[in-house]
Amino acid sequence: MLDKELLEILACPKCKGDLEYRPEENVLICWNCKLRYRIEDDIPIMLIDEAEPIEEGGVHGVHGQDSEGA
Ligand SMILES: [Zn+2]
Repeated sequence: MLDKELLEILACPKCKGDLEYRPEENVLICWNCKLRYRIEDDIPIMLIDEAEPIEEGGVHGVHGQDSEGA
């Protein structure tokens, strides 16, 4: 678990926005950037390069998806 105090000072390095802590996944999520920052040994890896993009599970073809010769 991360310190509450630490969580309060953490912000997304990209947009400086708030992060959502997911203890069960051991990640911090920025919904603005749709990036997921992992936490290693209770140390959040706050690097844009290390962040993983979030795929919004099951949300398909919401906008701008051309069906390419289905
Ligand atoms: Zn962000």
